[in-house]
Amino acid sequence: MSIISKTAGITATFCVITKLLSECRKGTQTETLLQIFIKRGYCSPIAKREIEKTYGLFTAFKAVNFNGGITINDIEQLVLMSGNLPGDVQRQLRSFYDKYHAYGLQRDGEGDAIRYCWLPISEEEFDWIRGKPLVPRNIFGSDAERDDFINSKQGKCEICKSDTRLAIDHWRAHSVYGVDSPAIAALLCEQCNNTHHNYDGAKIMLKRKDNLQCVKNWIIVETRVRNNGFNPNATDAAEQNRIIDQVAAFYQDNFEFTELLAMKIV
Ligand SMILES: [Zn+2]
Repeated sequence: MSIISKTAGITATFCVITKLLSECRKGTQTETLLQIFIKRGYCSPIAKREIEKTYGLFTAFKAVNFNGGITINDIEQLVLMSGNLPGDVQRQLRSFYDKYHAYGLQRDGEGDAIRYCWLPISEEEFDWIRGKPLVPRNIFGSDAERDDFINSKQGKCEICKSDTRLAIDHWRAHSVYGVDSPAIAALLCEQCNNTHHNYDGAKIMLKRKDNLQCVKNWIIVETRVRNNGFNPNATDAAEQNRIIDQVAAFYQDNFEFTELLAMKIV
């Protein structure tokens, strides 16, 4: 998908680049690149070549002292008037992209046609990237209750134990069961959440069946939710039974799986 079609209609309210700039060490290459993107603004593609030139010239001229020193605005004028610069800026820009891609920095095109564009992200998304789980409204009665729940899971995905991009999830799909309660809540990472989305949680176990611990963790979460009074409906129970048979068959030569088979609903 091209950068431009993705950005239509988006406006920034939380300035993620300014936030990243405030955290970055002064006088570094990263600081210069962040300044270039702040100057350009969100949703406005910049050609790789233009970034390289701006970056290279600013680095070359920033120590020059005339009229009180050179600014990024002066450099912009110089870029318009100058030819191409050689350099290893390319490598720098690649690692910059790797570092900030999660924060909204996009790239498209190939070779000399590569363009970069920064899309805004919300403060909530920023906090999520930094490890604060997303929590749907209406599940918890208070922030303390929410925090207790997250802490009780050691701040990790209950299935695969990843600690990145976590979210509280409705273990029984909200679109089907319509239940908002800690009794059906589970803490999941982005990957497990995406697998689960609108399907029964057994799908996560199926996807991660080659990891025995994930299978055991599914049993723990599913048992908890059932014990809290929320059994799967007939459709989900049938799906669970089918998946349990598949996973048990996968392990049959290696493990005694009575615990898993006991989860089947008859
Ligand atoms: Zn996970």
